[in-house]
Amino acid sequence: MTAPAAGADSAADQPNYAPIPRSALGPALNDQGYYVGRVERNLYYVTDGVYQSAFLTTADGVVVFDAPPSIGHNIRRAVDEIAAANGVSNTVTHFVYSHHHADHGGAASIFDGDVVRVGHEETRRLLQRDDDPARPLPEVTFADQYTLEVGGERVELAWRGPNHTPDNIYIHFPEHDTLMFIDVVNAGWVPIYNVNLSEDVIGYMGAPAIALDYPWTHFICGHLGRLATHDDVAVHQQYIADIEASSREALASIDPIPFYVAAGENFWAGVKAHLDTVTERAAAPVIAKYTGVLAAADIAEFTRTTTFQIMQSVRLDRGFTVSTYIHP
Ligand SMILES: [Zn+2]
Repeated sequence: MTAPAAGADSAADQPNYAPIPRSALGPALNDQGYYVGRVERNLYYVTDGVYQSAFLTTADGVVVFDAPPSIGHNIRRAVDEIAAANGVSNTVTHFVYSHHHADHGGAASIFDGDVVRVGHEETRRLLQRDDDPARPLPEVTFADQYTLEVGGERVELAWRGPNHTPDNIYIHFPEHDTLMFIDVVNAGWVPIYNVNLSEDVIGYMGAPAIALDYPWTHFICGHLGRLATHDDVAVHQQYIADIEASSREALASIDPIPFYVAAGENFWAGVKAHLDTVTERAAAPVIAKYTGVLAAADIAEFTRTTTFQIMQSVRLDRGFTVSTYIHP
């Protein structure tokens, strides 16, 4: 037997990346492909190793937070397993959206019937726009803050400005010493492409400090297999701060003029050559520093594309090297 030749677009054709630090991996999955773990008391999280969902069992039923389709019906299995073990109701009465993205809410329709769906008012608007039957609209919405009280339990939902998306909220469990905040910090791993596929770079960069303003010991960050810690947030913040500092250094030290002169009348070729050079210079030391520290930091494209986004934000939002020169 000969194996099929692996082309550049073959899934089998993977570069030899650095080993994943054991500390970046979560607990082993069961035969169904999920792990359910107690966060604190009656708050649990469910993971398939890549995505995370959470649920709270209460005297009056279960509240589910996010339903990534990759975990899908295993959320239901996890709820049933825990409810049976503790002799409490497995009826899901409430579902909370962290934000509108399909990869975190696309299995929301599993929880139908009498379930009350809760989300930010912008989540409702974006879900209306996106028109995906897998993500039913939240009936209960809020603008800034909402206290969800179910079966004697209390959860504080808050919108603190746009970050990963315009509608991404902070879900605080004050009686469980836990914060759930999705798609900004990946516990132990680098953000993926383009600032973790985020829309508001300044909001994304400032969000970890807001998360740290809350009292918590456990942090449900939405990705990978384990919960995040204060250390994970600190390493993430340092990684992003290093990219910003490196971007400023590269912007300040690389003269754009020779790139535009060399490109002649193809102005966009000059823009590309200049910005690619700045990005490469800014990203290279960060990739080197975090390889072996954050899992997958040696997938250079992730740090490069994130650096490009942050470098653009430094130029366009902050005005660095842009509004400092006004044509005389
Ligand atoms: Zn998202």
